[in-house]
Amino acid sequence: MSHLLEFDEVDKYFGDTHVLKQVSLDVDETEVCVVIGPSGSGKSTLLRCANRLEEIQGGEIRLDGVPLSDPDADINRLRQQIGMVFQSFNLFPHKTALENVTLAPLKVRGIDEDMANARGEELLEQVGLGAQMNSYPNQLSGGQQQRVAIARALAMDPKVMLFDEVTSALDPELVGEVLEVMRTLADDGMTMMVVTHEMGFAREVGDRIVLMADGSVVETGAPEQFFENPETERGKKFLSKLL
Ligand code: ADP
Ligand code: MG
Repeated sequence: MSHLLEFDEVDKYFGDTHVLKQVSLDVDETEVCVVIGPSGSGKSTLLRCANRLEEIQGGEIRLDGVPLSDPDADINRLRQQIGMVFQSFNLFPHKTALENVTLAPLKVRGIDEDMANARGEELLEQVGLGAQMNSYPNQLSGGQQQRVAIARALAMDPKVMLFDEVTSALDPELVGEVLEVMRTLADDGMTMMVVTHEMGFAREVGDRIVLMADGSVVETGAPEQFFENPETERGKKFLSKLL
């Protein structure tokens, strides 16, 4: 198995605050890596560094062996290969679902309009929105909007998808439909890094659980092992608080 995404002793500071402390973590091709941990532990920052929304101050992050900071690397190309979905969907309100999905491929990749539309329609079908392609965001539920956001990220044909608490802002009854789309993606072999509080999803869909606390990875393990028999005190404490 080759490592697709590698974090190698990554240090991140905000001013004097050390928020990622020597974080090392590998995500293999087709693996679903679920990152959990208390609020403020650095989960979002870790994902944002992987997409170079944040710069790191030490260590290295590599995609397919290429350092994101490589001066010879095409940073825009690298970034396109890393899809990201956030808690807030941030769709363009005056564009339809389909237009939201095709915008980046048309503008950034210069893909032909017919091809972009065909691919966009296919992706919206895939996330269960075949009937809503021409709807505007305010005509869609939160769960539907988040599924458009997932289709939009997929439209760039990323090698890895990063999900940061994508169901946290949704009404409880809409969480399942988004998790279902993510589960299907995982089953289809997408490499994913998922920050979530949905422990059922973590356990069932995750290949590996990564527990963060205070900017460090404190435990990693297979889901069964982690949830049934955590090795560290931090792991035990985190799980006890879920009950
Ligand atoms: P999590 O996603 O696990 O809740 P974050 O990655 O959002 O944690 O935050 C980790 C730490 O970094 C927190 O202490 C937070 O206050 C701090 N932090 C996050 N973003 C910024 C920022 N833009 N400027 C300063 N501090 C930040
Ligand atoms: Mg966060």
